[in-house]
Amino acid sequence: MFKRISEAFGRLAADIQRETAEWKIRCTACGRQKSLAAVGGVRYGASGTKHTLGYCSGCKGLRMLKIYRPAEEAAVPPRGPNLSA
Ligand SMILES: [Zn+2]
Repeated sequence: MFKRISEAFGRLAADIQRETAEWKIRCTACGRQKSLAAVGGVRYGASGTKHTLGYCSGCKGLRMLKIYRPAEEAAVPPRGPNLSA
């Protein structure tokens, strides 16, 4: 019983780690970016883009930081007139 629970938690931890690794955080002021995991953030079961206030080591101050997933941004088709209609 306990073994099954710890296995489930192990899988969940691996899932969270993998998902978090996909996220990047970028300073909207200077464009400096790094992986969200590197700054100790965790994103799981999330999608879309989020903004948060945080300290940027690039321009040394509190800035709006954009948290996003590059794979997801690339997957979103550009908005525009639907030429096939
Ligand atoms: Zn910055």
